[in-house]
Amino acid sequence: MSIWTSLRGHAEQQEMFRRTIGRQRLSQAYLFLGPEGIGKQQFARRLAQALLCQSPGEDPLEACGDCSGCKPFLAASHPDFLYVGCPEGKRELPISLLVGSEERRGQEGLCHDLSLAPLPGSRKVAIVDDADTMNDASANSFLKTLEEPPDRAILLLIASNLDALLPTIRSRCQLVRFSALDTSDIEQLLLEQDLVQSEADAKFASALSEGSLSTAKQLLEPELRELRTLLYSKLSQPNFSGLGLSKSLLEGLGKISTETPVQRINGQWLIRFTVEFFRSALLSLSVPLPDSEQTIPEIIPFVNRLKEMPDPMGLLGALIDRSVDASSHIDQNVPVPATLDALYDELARLLRAPTLTR
Ligand SMILES: [Zn+2]
Repeated sequence: MSIWTSLRGHAEQQEMFRRTIGRQRLSQAYLFLGPEGIGKQQFARRLAQALLCQSPGEDPLEACGDCSGCKPFLAASHPDFLYVGCPEGKRELPISLLVGSEERRGQEGLCHDLSLAPLPGSRKVAIVDDADTMNDASANSFLKTLEEPPDRAILLLIASNLDALLPTIRSRCQLVRFSALDTSDIEQLLLEQDLVQSEADAKFASALSEGSLSTAKQLLEPELRELRTLLYSKLSQPNFSGLGLSKSLLEGLGKISTETPVQRINGQWLIRFTVEFFRSALLSLSVPLPDSEQTIPEIIPFVNRLKEMPDPMGLLGALIDRSVDASSHIDQNVPVPATLDALYDELARLLRAPTLTR
């Protein structure tokens, strides 16, 4: 079986490396650039295995899985494969991982290990994950290795933010851009990895994931899902209290985290959920779906009620506009509580107004 089977997307990039290796034109340093959570690291690991395989077949991107290169690689003990990345919970790639601790500077770390000769017939492959989290000191200490990589060494840098990289680092790597995954790929991955309880959840999270598996996973965190359920049940009820809804949502956000940056991210998610609710309603109005295919069940009573109102399409347009405005308010640093209070109060008013005019 191909080592690439379980990787979604990125066929163009595979083809590029297939050609490049086939022509023996591999560069010594690549920069993999693209959004978080789309499989750049997995791509780099597969490429590393292919480069370390001692009995490759016709396809230079494949690995046999059973040779003196593949076996230790798969057991995570290949002496010629090196990996560093930003440790969980840290914001920066520690300089010690690159050039050693203060006491042993230059005697350990990735740059030192790369300078050691590879096994006979092998080469060194190093992945520098989260390269955009290197601070200037780390980047400068790494630069010498990047400028003059040891013979038979290949460096694969991974980043999602090009602006956070020193220009001197960027300019010494061949840039390989990676795009977000298709929604259908995310949906499949969520189901395959048992990250969702139902196909409807997989559809919902993938639709909002912007092609990133890590974003989809965030969306599926239980606390956020609970708030989404609360939000949808309220939005689908006639004459719900906007301020009451906002209060419950803010209490929920406070339980997840009291840190302002996290609240802003989660506040934005609630607004995205709200937009998604109205968008789905809009879609249901224009292309009626069988109830069983409705990914948000609360849409059904909501749409039935909308149909009795004058100009439901226009109303949904207004509801979506207000929600999108609220999202830009959070971007402009308006506090989350004030934004949500104003938004849900306004949405409740809009949804009430048509019945009052009857
Ligand atoms: Zn092999």
